[in-house]
Amino acid sequence: MHIWDNTDPQDTGYPSLGVQGFVCDLLFLIRKMIQQTVLVFLTISTGAFGLPNPRILGNECSYKDFNLITRAGWNARPARSPTSLSTPVELVIIHHSYQPGACFNTEDCSTAMRSMQDYHQLSNGWDDIGYNFAVGSDGQAYEGRGWDRVGAHAAGFNIRSIGIVLIGDWVSIVPPEIQLETTKQLIAVGIQLGYISPEYRLVGHRQVRATECPGEALFKEISTWERFSPDV
Ligand SMILES: [Zn+2]
Repeated sequence: MHIWDNTDPQDTGYPSLGVQGFVCDLLFLIRKMIQQTVLVFLTISTGAFGLPNPRILGNECSYKDFNLITRAGWNARPARSPTSLSTPVELVIIHHSYQPGACFNTEDCSTAMRSMQDYHQLSNGWDDIGYNFAVGSDGQAYEGRGWDRVGAHAAGFNIRSIGIVLIGDWVSIVPPEIQLETTKQLIAVGIQLGYISPEYRLVGHRQVRATECPGEALFKEISTWERFSPDV
């Protein structure tokens, strides 16, 4: 019996990159460069000076169907030494947190993220929160280790998978529809960005380790998803 999800103790970790390297930040950087280029062009072409600097939003990335809260957004502690994930991965592994329980707004989900990071990093001595991403019952995704760092969530499978935790206890009830939908959309984004193979296999944590995770109800739910595989 475990209180927390039984994540992988063979942690390899990654460094204090904060949100650097994450695609959202790259997008913001590109957007900033474009804005500044346009600003310079306007300044030169109109002779106008003193235009306001472009305002860059740094803690959130808005996709078509959901928001992604970056590490800065949930006030993550920096991670440690890096291990790059070889992508695209062939496996997506689904977890539940069990505890912390379900969260329904950014503040509570951010608190849940910090508590998971505290447990993994301070109590277990790992380099960072174990999961690559989390999804809350608020329908938002939260950046864990991100797309391109090896996680610590499924022993023996971390180097070839993306681990997504659906925050909450999903033993007897399924997550809200919006949480399920965001999880699917997050995987779709991972495919679009080239981090997840289009031929990926979706599995639950229990298929690669003796654990109740991701909860009986959630496991039954993901068993109906398109890319679910009974074989790892
Ligand atoms: Zn798990």
